[in-house]
Amino acid sequence: MGSQVGEGARRIAFLSEHASPVALLGGADAGGQNVYVDEVSRHLGRLGYAVDVFTRRDSDEQPPVMAWRPGVRVVHVEAGPARTLPKDDLWPLMPAFRDGVARFAADEGTCYDLIHGNFWMSGWVAADLGQRLGVPVVQIFHAMGKTKQRHQGAADTSPEERIGVESDVIRSVDWVIAQCPSERDELVGDYGAPPDKVEIIPSAVNTEIFRPLSRAEARRQIEPELGIGSDDEVVGYVGRMLPRKDVRNVVRAFASLVRDREAAGRPAPKLLLVGGETGAPDPVTTPEIGVLQGMAADLGVAHLVRFTGNRQQDVLHRYYGAADVTVTTPWYEPFGLTPLEGMACGRPVVGSAVGGITFTVEDGVTGFLVPPRDPEALAAHLQELLDRPELRDRMGRAARARVERFFTWPTVAERTAALYEELWAEASRGGEAKRAAAPADPRALARAR
Ligand code: UDP
Repeated sequence: MGSQVGEGARRIAFLSEHASPVALLGGADAGGQNVYVDEVSRHLGRLGYAVDVFTRRDSDEQPPVMAWRPGVRVVHVEAGPARTLPKDDLWPLMPAFRDGVARFAADEGTCYDLIHGNFWMSGWVAADLGQRLGVPVVQIFHAMGKTKQRHQGAADTSPEERIGVESDVIRSVDWVIAQCPSERDELVGDYGAPPDKVEIIPSAVNTEIFRPLSRAEARRQIEPELGIGSDDEVVGYVGRMLPRKDVRNVVRAFASLVRDREAAGRPAPKLLLVGGETGAPDPVTTPEIGVLQGMAADLGVAHLVRFTGNRQQDVLHRYYGAADVTVTTPWYEPFGLTPLEGMACGRPVVGSAVGGITFTVEDGVTGFLVPPRDPEALAAHLQELLDRPELRDRMGRAARARVERFFTWPTVAERTAALYEELWAEASRGGEAKRAAAPADPRALARAR
């Protein structure tokens, strides 16, 4: 796959310190951001932009630069040891990451026309380089520190500088992308971002990869060892196995569902759980799987719960499709790609009424919204959907239609490109960009050094 770009193509530096498009997904630190970076860069490449995705080199095997998609290269920047580190340990490495990006551009003689930062740490790098190089900066946070702190309290392992840096980045960059209205509210309400500096561009789903399969076909295509029969009723979850995703809530609801169905003399349903650090379920590398296994055993449903470990994007439609209904009930969710993926596969989604899920799932039309941490509410809706196949199928069709209409990556890339073009047009008119004139807060710089 080449990365040749047309003469005179606009050059974008896409910074994503921990989330590489090349990384395997499903583990603790590889999720939606990786997908966003991959899809948006790919579609910007298709639109004729030349995109370099800068990410930290976290393995000896990674070449310094690789052609990734047409028009897109991935640059592995030396910053700290070439091995996987938890993302919360990466902050002190950001000056080295920034210098690596600057060195790469200088060595190649590449002048970037715009920097697009992802997550707060790359946001700091983007803001700093944007000032130094005098180029516009667009930032997307993917998740906000204040929200995380509110929900996770003492369990939040983010560096203490995070929230201050986020505020500095918001002040310094030209434009901030929010993925949904609730993220805009956080940016404006929690951080005082000027509303006209925040543009809502929802994330999306690849509707070619995530496509409907009949239940029977999907079940034939997944591992027979999972023991999912053609007549089984199946509830499916796909996603990272982290406490905040509250798969524990799903297991509790499932146990309640099993009790109700058995009491009614119906066969017990099955619960399919996809995600984890490895391709086979391993409670050592993914402690949350151990917690869930213990909980399923205590609730007497271990024999009905199937863990697969993680799976890659190109096969996930089989797992979504093998489920009658898909479910995601995190405590909070900045956007949430997995509900959209389930919808694109033509399955109704029962999701927490939090963050982006309230925007993607249309309550009562493409699935149901339930309060987080409420297993009984979840169980009641699962029961309803399993009892009413015609409702399930209607919602599944509506879900696919909603995704096709509002949540596709080509549209995201076009809207992102329109934002870039507006910034360049502003700059060529010699007008004031929205960015504050002052350099990135020197306190933030000092803290990072
Ligand atoms: N994912 C995956 N394989 C897995 C589990 C998850 O590819 O085994 C992907 C999933 O398809 C989705 C992303 O990881 O695209 C998770 O994104 P989401 O926004 O739902 O949550 P995040 O992980 O970003 O918190």
